Amino acid sequence: MNRPVIAANWKMNNGPTSAREFMNSFLDQYPRQYDRTLLIFPPALSLHAVAESLVDRRDILLGVQNVHWADQGAFTGELSVGIARDAGARVVLVGHSERRHVFGETSEETALKCAAIERGGLTPLLCVGDTLDQRDTGDAERTVLEQLRTGLSRMTQLASREIIVAYEPVWAIGTGRTATSEDAATMHTAIRAELQTLYGDRSRTTPILYGGSVNSSNAAALLATGEVDGLLVGGASLDAGSWLTVARS
Ligand code: PEP
Repeated sequence: MNRPVIAANWKMNNGPTSAREFMNSFLDQYPRQYDRTLLIFPPALSLHAVAESLVDRRDILLGVQNVHWADQGAFTGELSVGIARDAGARVVLVGHSERRHVFGETSEETALKCAAIERGGLTPLLCVGDTLDQRDTGDAERTVLEQLRTGLSRMTQLASREIIVAYEPVWAIGTGRTATSEDAATMHTAIRAELQTLYGDRSRTTPILYGGSVNSSNAAALLATGEVDGLLVGGASLDAGSWLTVARS
C-alpha cells in the first residue's frame, strides 16, 4: 500500500511571518514520519519562509496553490511552473473548487495547467468535485469523471509521471458538511476505474485524496475507508492543534 498523503491548503492565509511561526511550533511537535507524506500549500509569497523551516525535513513537501500554463512571459500577477519549482515547490494544486467557482477556471484551463506542470517536472494535484445541484440531479459522477478526463487530457506521459487526484465535493468545502465515508468511497472507486481506463495498471499507485471539511474528529475515519489514500485539508490546517491531529491520523 502507498503511504497516505495528508495535504494542507492554507488558501489566502499565513503571510511569511505567521507561516514561520506556525511551522516552528508544528515541527517541534511533529517529528519526522516516513510512513506518510505531508504536503503544505502556503500562499506563494510564504513559500520561501516555509521552505527555510523544512531544510532537513524530507517527509514534508511543498506546493503552490495555482500556476499559469505558459512557461514565461507577459502575464502580470501570474506564477509559472518554473518559478514555483525554483522556489521549492514539488506539487501544484490544479482545479481547486475555489479556482473553478470563484475565478471561473474551466476544465480546459486545468488541462493546460496539468500539461505545463508535466513539462516543468512537477506533480499536479488535480481537484475534481460535484456541486450540490449536480449531486441532487444524479449528475455527480458524470461531472467528476468529465473534470478528471479533461484535466488530464493534455498530459503526454500519464503512464510514467506521478499525479495526485483529490475528490472534493463542492458542497463539503468550508461548509462543515463532510461526505460520508460511503459517499467518498463510491466516488473514489469511480475515479480509480477511470484512471485505470486512462493509463492502465500504473494508475493503481495514484493517490486519490478526499477533501471537504476534514477535521481532527473525522480524519481517521475517512482514512480508514480503504479507497481514501489521503486528505486535502483547508480550514483545519490553519489551526496548529487540529492540523497536528490530522497529520498524525
Ligand atoms: C480545501 O480547501 O481544499 C478544503 C477542502 O477546504 P476545507 O477543509 O476548509 O473544507
